[in-house]
Amino acid sequence: MSVIVPCPCCNKPISRSAASCITCGHPVKETLDSRFNKKVTLIGIALLFLLIVFVKITNFDVPSFIKSIIFKN
Ligand SMILES: [Zn+2]
Repeated sequence: MSVIVPCPCCNKPISRSAASCITCGHPVKETLDSRFNKKVTLIGIALLFLLIVFVKITNFDVPSFIKSIIFKN
């Protein structure tokens, strides 16, 4: 038995195993949630990449920066 979910586009009940909504043709596999997750993952990778580039370019001393935060007097 397949799971019935509301279409993210028209909210009509559709089978989760269906490739697209039978009413409006909206693709089911690519839901709003998976799009959001993809965006979050991409942003995370981009931020990590920027951090690495920033550290490389500025020769930023990460250990002493962390120490300066922890032992700030
Ligand atoms: Zn639909």
